[in-house]
Amino acid sequence: LKGISIAIDGPAAAGKSTIAKKIAQKLNYTYIDTGAMYRALTYKAICNDINIKSDHDLSKLLQETDIILKPVNGSQAVWIDGVDRSEEIRSQKVTANVSMVATHANVREMMVGKQRELANGTGVVMDGRDIGTAVLPNAELKIFMTASVEERAVRRFNENESRGIHIPLDQLKREIEKRDQSDSERTVSPLKMADDAVLVDTTSLSVNEVVDKVILLAEE
Ligand code: C5P
Repeated sequence: LKGISIAIDGPAAAGKSTIAKKIAQKLNYTYIDTGAMYRALTYKAICNDINIKSDHDLSKLLQETDIILKPVNGSQAVWIDGVDRSEEIRSQKVTANVSMVATHANVREMMVGKQRELANGTGVVMDGRDIGTAVLPNAELKIFMTASVEERAVRRFNENESRGIHIPLDQLKREIEKRDQSDSERTVSPLKMADDAVLVDTTSLSVNEVVDKVILLAEE
């Protein structure tokens, strides 16, 4: 398959990154997790006591921050200012604050610029919220991946448990709903399905079923 761009968008915990990673591996494409970039900035803002309601302060911080996405055996490590922060950016604190950081116009403009740079060249699978609508509007394949909120909360719960992290299912469900609401209601590039995207509901599909489905679509 020649190097095309595959955009995968959708609400929180819909399985986007799990699927995107596997597709990238199978097609020998570059995988880019754009959520990790917003998480990285959020992490640094928290560490530096920066006001996350200020686009100006966050943009300035982003300018001074070195965020590197490094491919590591089928996944992606996130380095911030020379330190591997892959674990830290998944913390509850970052998760609870990232959607606010992602509302800001200047922050988004800078992130989109970085993301387009990362995508230029050969085959890429990029996941996020605005990839098909804003970052890569010319992507050859756009997927809008969803699942019921109950299913998404259960998946996140199981993922946490397997890592020894115990967070009640109810709390995860509320957190996911809150983040989806913020991401869908913000004014700049809100989460929404691109007109030319294919809707993939993963509620009752296995990971392999979804991967096969997307690869079939990519080969069309
Ligand atoms: O994908 P992930 O859950 O790691 O994304 C974290 C947050 O980053 C999202 O809830 C959203 O607020 C923001 N985000 C975004 N645009 C993207 C990717 C992520 O606004 N392309």
